[in-house]
Amino acid sequence: MSDLASTLATLGLSANPDALAIGHETFGTSGSELTVTSPIDGSTLATMKMATPDDANKAIAAAKEAFTAWRTVPAPRRGELVRQFGNRLREHKKTLGALVSWEVGKITAEAEGEVQEMIDICDFAVGLSRQLYGLSIQSERPGHRLTEQWHPLGPIGVITAFNFPVAVWAWNAALALVCGDPVVLKPSEKAPLCALACHNILMEVIRDFDEAPAALSSVVIGMRDVGEAVAGSKDLPLVSATGSVPMGKAVGQAVGARLGRSLLELGGNNAMIVTESADLDLAVRAITFSAVGTTGQRCTTLRRLIVHESLKDELVAKLKKIFETVAIGDPTRDGVLIGPLIDEAAGDAMDKALEEAKKQGGEVFGGGRLTEGVPAGGTYVKPAIVEIDASAPILQQETFAPILYVLTYTDIDQAISIQNDVPQGLSSAIFTGSVLDAETFCGPAGSDCGIANVNIGTSGAEIGGAFGGEKETGGGRESGSDAWKNYMRRATNTVNYTTQLPLAQGITFDV
Ligand code: NAD
Repeated sequence: MSDLASTLATLGLSANPDALAIGHETFGTSGSELTVTSPIDGSTLATMKMATPDDANKAIAAAKEAFTAWRTVPAPRRGELVRQFGNRLREHKKTLGALVSWEVGKITAEAEGEVQEMIDICDFAVGLSRQLYGLSIQSERPGHRLTEQWHPLGPIGVITAFNFPVAVWAWNAALALVCGDPVVLKPSEKAPLCALACHNILMEVIRDFDEAPAALSSVVIGMRDVGEAVAGSKDLPLVSATGSVPMGKAVGQAVGARLGRSLLELGGNNAMIVTESADLDLAVRAITFSAVGTTGQRCTTLRRLIVHESLKDELVAKLKKIFETVAIGDPTRDGVLIGPLIDEAAGDAMDKALEEAKKQGGEVFGGGRLTEGVPAGGTYVKPAIVEIDASAPILQQETFAPILYVLTYTDIDQAISIQNDVPQGLSSAIFTGSVLDAETFCGPAGSDCGIANVNIGTSGAEIGGAFGGEKETGGGRESGSDAWKNYMRRATNTVNYTTQLPLAQGITFDV
């Protein structure tokens, strides 16, 4: 990490940054002390004083002001800002990727992949800026034009989780900006530097963009109380919140209490079905990336493998070999595929889940800490495979660590029912050579998740599709497809270009 100082400097950061950034300005804050450490080796990356709910309100007020100017800038021009931002991200891809690795422990390929996701969503948003289409509808009245148009909504509150410290903000920010909305970010307290770096890169572009008010972007680094201020502010018509189910329930209720909109992207408990006709080699590769990639810390991580009973022994044997030999260690080193968990508490949660699984009849392979060949000071774990009965209660919960539960089934309806029998509904997959099984899985009586894949794993979604899930995953959709509609308000316009005043439904009301 010898080049930490220069990386921070390139991204406009210091080892003692301010926790409140509004446009080009930063402000000292009076919250408690935050030490930002690297999960790689526990070293200190930065220290800062956190922001308070009052600071959040200051950022929200500035965003509200910025909105009044930005909403009338033509959308293609707003897209031009995002185009320039995407280009700037291309220049910063390696540097920002390095910061992602240091701050949350991702391997370099995944860290840079996350920045690529930001670039992709910018490209998507630029195209979108010329396509924020409304409908033209046939009026039942003569001489009337009935249309829908989409207008900017207002400042958007964005609350993010630690595990996608740059992409999730970009998913929201790129769409919000082309839709005409400023963004107030409350990032995970475990990844504040990534948040400030993203903001700074956007500011580089805004500085030379005449129509863009600086307060289009702000960052408020704080704990839960700052998140609560964001959720509770009536000046934020939409709060997009990514994180755990308990957080989503709190935010959803706070936003709902003021009848605001929330876009919730919460925990997953993702499963893959492997049928008798599956290409096993392909399945093994997909399972490995989905289950142990990002050290099991993706919302879409594969947690439950539902395999036809005739294949279980062969598949598990192949997986054990890989899980035993996969390279674990410093995520910035070439060849390493599994980096550290985010912190010691995540390691403890993994240990606890494995203990619990044993008590529930599970047969555990792997797991436990790794201390040799890895940097001291980080939490490095061996990925685990747990063969367990489908009725075990542990299967109902998401443990944010590389634990793969293996269950068996005998017929496809049973497999789908096991897959759906959890409170969460984010991502799912089937590996099969049978078109009947694949289509059943994708159909109305199939997977109940927001994402249902065939012959690819549960994680690693493209930005073009709408991303999100059902049930306790929160129901939100962001990123591609028509997710932009979350960030706009719809106005229905009926225009009468006659001298008569016919009423709808043929009502007469003559005075
Ligand atoms: P977390 O819920 O602990 O924290 C997420 C954010 O919410 C943080 O910024 C935190 O400060 C804030 N927060 C916590 N309580 C709050 C409250 N009551 N009001 C307002 N803000 C509050 O989550 P985490 O540990 O950072 O991330 C892991 C979780 O996020 C996992 O459950 C994972 O599945 C989920 N996740 C979901 C998606 C998705 O798109 N569905 C993506 C990434 C992560």
